[in-house]
Amino acid sequence: MSSGFKISNFTELRAQILSGTANRVSAALNKQTCSLDDLAALLSLPAEDYLPQMAARSREITAMRFGRTTQIFAPLYLSNFCVNRCAYCGFAADNNIPRKKLSLNQAEQEAEILKQRGFNHVLLVTGEAPARAGVDYLEAVVRRLKNRFAAISIEVQPLEENEYGRLFAAGVTAVAVYQETYDREIYKKIHLAGKKCDYDYRIATPARAAAAGMREIGIGALLGLADWRCEGLAIGMHLSWLRKRFWKTNFTVSFPRLRPAAGSFEPLVNVTEKNLTQLIFALRIFDPDVGLVLSTREEARYRDGMLGLGPTRYSAGSCTAPGGYSSNEHDGEQFSVGDHRTIDEVCATVSEKGFDPVRKDWDREFQK
Ligand code: SF4
Repeated sequence: MSSGFKISNFTELRAQILSGTANRVSAALNKQTCSLDDLAALLSLPAEDYLPQMAARSREITAMRFGRTTQIFAPLYLSNFCVNRCAYCGFAADNNIPRKKLSLNQAEQEAEILKQRGFNHVLLVTGEAPARAGVDYLEAVVRRLKNRFAAISIEVQPLEENEYGRLFAAGVTAVAVYQETYDREIYKKIHLAGKKCDYDYRIATPARAAAAGMREIGIGALLGLADWRCEGLAIGMHLSWLRKRFWKTNFTVSFPRLRPAAGSFEPLVNVTEKNLTQLIFALRIFDPDVGLVLSTREEARYRDGMLGLGPTRYSAGSCTAPGGYSSNEHDGEQFSVGDHRTIDEVCATVSEKGFDPVRKDWDREFQK
């Protein structure tokens, strides 16, 4: 199936962004439909002077397409075993952290806690260790949890199309797989061992998942590895390539910024809140229908301030260690979070600000 998405190198993307002028930014803000050149202009340095106008346009589009709803979700970490060595990640194979894979009963116990907190949609997360948490295991977990949740998403190792097909049949409806960085040179330097070193296999993964029938695909980049303006343009290119081929599929984009993790990796580039804000506004204006995810990596103050301005989905009350909800043990986390509020506290703030916190993504019944 489609594996043909190719991205220009970052030198070319940078040149495209550098051609952004104040006039181009202003023109992009007045268009109903933006091109990739418009996106490049909105990501450019001159666009920083237009942040208030970008905020207003982004807010207007978000209200029009998503109303006053904000989806709230929490990840359920099933396993932190990983055979890869990604320099920036606490789960990397060479980090000496307590490793754990939940049994089916333990997974059910964690899921029950999320269910009691009001979630009807769960995101299952693992490190990448197919021998320990492969398709058979994932399929068994999904079948066990299926009747408890209206929708189940996964963020696990990249799979083959037929494997996604199996998980889709078992009850998975959405897949998140982030490229981490679209800069091939940087990608090579920070992915030190394991199958994840294969840039091309990873970049073709969202298309394999969509081809298998998944209802929603999440893409994104880990901010702090390469030029964020180029990452934004690359995400826009990937998104429009996927949309042309999989027009029935829903897409989301995540913008995780690097957080402290085991291994003490320092970000290679600094991405400020202002930069992140520009990136969010630019992508919202470029693609009005895309779901934009803002995770607990960001601090409460920032997340609250961004409500209604572009992001449509917030994680809340997240623990990034397997078994963390039942044990309250945070050893073996993937990264530390920036917003420590409980789910109820996040939902209360969302409501106070006039938005409706929705703890359910979708219902499998629609599929019938
Ligand atoms: S980012 Fe994913 S693949 Fe890389 S070390 Fe962490 S869990 Fe493993």
